[in-house]
Amino acid sequence: MTSLPSEVDVAIIGAGAAGLGAARALEHSGLSTIVLEARERVGGRAHTIMAAPDITFDLGCGWLHSADRNSFVKIADQLNFEIDKTRPPWREQAFDAAFPVKERADFIEALDAFYDRAEEAAKNGRDQAASAFLDPGNRWNPMIDAISTYVNGCELDRVSILDMAAYEDTEINWRVRRGYGALMAAYGAPVPLAPNCNVTRIDHAGPRVRIETSQGTLTADKVIVTVPTNLIADEAIRFHPALPAKMDAARGLPLGLADKVLLALDEPDALPKDGNLRGATMRTKMGTYHLRPFGQACIEGYFGGRFARELEDAGDGALAAQSIDEIVAFLGNDFRRKLKPLTESRWAHDPFARGSYSHALPGHAGMRAVLAAPIDGRLFFAGEATSPNFFSTAHGARDSGERAAAEVVASLAKP
Ligand SMILES: Cc1cc2nc3c(=O)[nH]c(=O)nc-3n(C[C@H](O)[C@H](O)[C@H](O)COP(=O)(O)OP(=O)(O)OC[C@H]3O[C@@H](n4cnc5c(N)ncnc54)[C@H](O)[C@@H]3O)c2cc1C
Repeated sequence: MTSLPSEVDVAIIGAGAAGLGAARALEHSGLSTIVLEARERVGGRAHTIMAAPDITFDLGCGWLHSADRNSFVKIADQLNFEIDKTRPPWREQAFDAAFPVKERADFIEALDAFYDRAEEAAKNGRDQAASAFLDPGNRWNPMIDAISTYVNGCELDRVSILDMAAYEDTEINWRVRRGYGALMAAYGAPVPLAPNCNVTRIDHAGPRVRIETSQGTLTADKVIVTVPTNLIADEAIRFHPALPAKMDAARGLPLGLADKVLLALDEPDALPKDGNLRGATMRTKMGTYHLRPFGQACIEGYFGGRFARELEDAGDGALAAQSIDEIVAFLGNDFRRKLKPLTESRWAHDPFARGSYSHALPGHAGMRAVLAAPIDGRLFFAGEATSPNFFSTAHGARDSGERAAAEVVASLAKP
């Protein structure tokens, strides 16, 4: 932990994956740096807690997506964090009676056909809402939309097909046994950090950039901004002079919503380790459940989009109550007494996130590059939303921080 200096070479705003990636990339650059973080902890949307003495839980990111291309895999190795390579159960269902094999195969076929149509259409370069590629009247449409709420944090009517096609999913997904957030905290431990330091204004009118924070003011030669798009769009940080192009870009790349809930499970042996259960099959408003993650005595529920928003707005405990009702509807009322709420996330109400991960609105896929572009060789932008191919992920965020750090160094090399 570092107290606030009055001036630095490079100020990095936000200690999430992007800010930490930038700071780590600059650690041997000879430049003085400071990471200004509004929270009292590093990690941002990566946050591991012990939900019970023997239950590790990631409130934010949990999966090393595209693991064969994910820079956190090597970092985990270096920091001695065990990686679990168990395949995710997303396309499976633990209880046949709840979703019979034949029905499941039919659904997967409809889902894949939808992705193929959207991807094919994206090849002509004209952007549209992904919902336009649902097969009209197909009985699986509500469930395909539900999958979008988990993947994109919103329904398909708000998703750009060009953005969807730009994402690189290698379909290899691993996990960090001690938690992705714990890995992030270890990765960020060496960075010079000013915690509880909420940045409110960035004045880039003068020869040095002046940064106003809840801990006082400092000046910097270069600034790397990594805060989530919703904070830029809401002007939680004000720029002077204003940056209308950045605000437009941020508005085109809003954070969707995904929330997690954790239920303790009595008599865990009744359920399979790392199994999957869907809260329903024929509607969009439903949770999806990971049974006994890592074999732990718990169930992790996942909600997205408008339904997640409704449940968050309903107040603490609403996600847990919904989950228990859905699970009991499939597994029988006897399960009600076996399930106890442990914790749930509230990412929309989190003042320093205001959502979960970014998606491009139809017509706005090009905004990722606009958001990422430096200004006057002094203001640089990183964060998951700026990643061209791994947006919405932790490794995409980290890599974007490294990219912004390289831009800072390159700007200094210029005569
Ligand atoms: C429920 C959920 C599940 C997810 N699942 C996965 C997954 O399985 N795999 C995956 O790869 N990704 C997943 N993600 C996404 C992933 O967590 C994010 O994409 C990534 O962590 C974003 O990193 P970032 O550095 O861009 O932003 P953040 O982590 O949001 O970091 C930005 C930082 O800026 C700080 N900040 C904000 N405003 C200010 C201010 N005014 N002054 C100072 N500091 C400020 C914030 O506190 C924060 O620490 C998930 C996210 C959620 C919410």
